[in-house]
Amino acid sequence: MKKLIFLILIFLNVSSYSQTIIPDISARVDTSKTAIKQVYNLYKNYLNSRPDSIYHNPNWNTKEAKQYLKGKVFRIDRSAIQMFSYYDSKTYFSYYKPKILQIDSIGSNRYQIKTIFAKECPDTDYKTFTPDCITKLYAVRDDKGLFKLENVISYDTRNWKTFKFKFITYKVHPNSVFNKKEAVKASSFCEKISKQFNITIEPFTYYILPNSDEMGKLYNYEYWLSYLGGQTLNPFKEIYTTYGNASYPHEFVHLLFPLPKDNISFCPMIINEGLATWLAGPSMTETFEHALTETSKTFQSKEKISLEDIMTFKLRNEFDNSILYVTGGVICKLVYEKHGVEGIWELYNSTDKNFKFVLEKLFGVPYDNLEKYVIEYIRDFEKPN
Ligand SMILES: [Zn+2]
Repeated sequence: MKKLIFLILIFLNVSSYSQTIIPDISARVDTSKTAIKQVYNLYKNYLNSRPDSIYHNPNWNTKEAKQYLKGKVFRIDRSAIQMFSYYDSKTYFSYYKPKILQIDSIGSNRYQIKTIFAKECPDTDYKTFTPDCITKLYAVRDDKGLFKLENVISYDTRNWKTFKFKFITYKVHPNSVFNKKEAVKASSFCEKISKQFNITIEPFTYYILPNSDEMGKLYNYEYWLSYLGGQTLNPFKEIYTTYGNASYPHEFVHLLFPLPKDNISFCPMIINEGLATWLAGPSMTETFEHALTETSKTFQSKEKISLEDIMTFKLRNEFDNSILYVTGGVICKLVYEKHGVEGIWELYNSTDKNFKFVLEKLFGVPYDNLEKYVIEYIRDFEKPN
């Protein structure tokens, strides 16, 4: 689903407890003003009403909530999609305590709320992991005069240049440039994949951004510690790139292949990323063959390798997920060579539960044997000099 450039997972040593979260405020937040106090209360209520859950939070703009919850895959708040990937909100807030830095009027009936999430006295080991982020949300009065929260993306991109090219709507950051030649390449790649796998292309939006911080802003982050280089949000039919490019084949694969019908039974990450890696390389800048060569060298330096260690990230490179992506890519390649497009669909429709069984069926051998075969294929790919 996404390319994590940098993944940090720290182990929060806290126990979950039910307690009202009362965000601190900086000296800049003047709650003696009625509107500011209302916005403060709205935000406090939001933090205390399960922001980690996928549901229509009563503190959120209704129209936006309906639009975001269509697929029931993501939370309404774009920053919450990433913030609560590993911890529920209570655990997260008990470690990273929210402190509101600013609540300011920035337009007619529109206020911004900026909040820092930081640990007050971190253990020495975790000092560099705090603050985790600074978020920005909008509070906007609805037609009844009540403040409701909003993501920043619609308002903050309202003046951006927009280009339509076939089924792609490009939204271009003011510091980025739209390249039409790349857009031609982009649509040709999508059409090729659509034909090869018999997929109908649905129109989508593609955000061209100059760097990761500008992407963070569209996800309601003024600062983020764990950042992304590019991402596809398939339920929203959106692609983000921080490389300023108008063609991003790896992400197109993620966007074109459909979500599971129940929006729950996703295929294992090794297949989802493996498929995009086999068809378009692991990232914007690297081909599948090059990544396979590098992974081959890594495998040659290791004694024991298992698919389990790869899938649980016990075996990984320090700064990227290439080993998982390439191994998945090789599985897709081998299955395609044996069963063609049908084999790829069987892999893509597998789940964590039946994954081993599907692999055994497609390779026609017990799991241990196919595991050995895949690992040896990668190890032997680059012949040592
Ligand atoms: Zn990916």
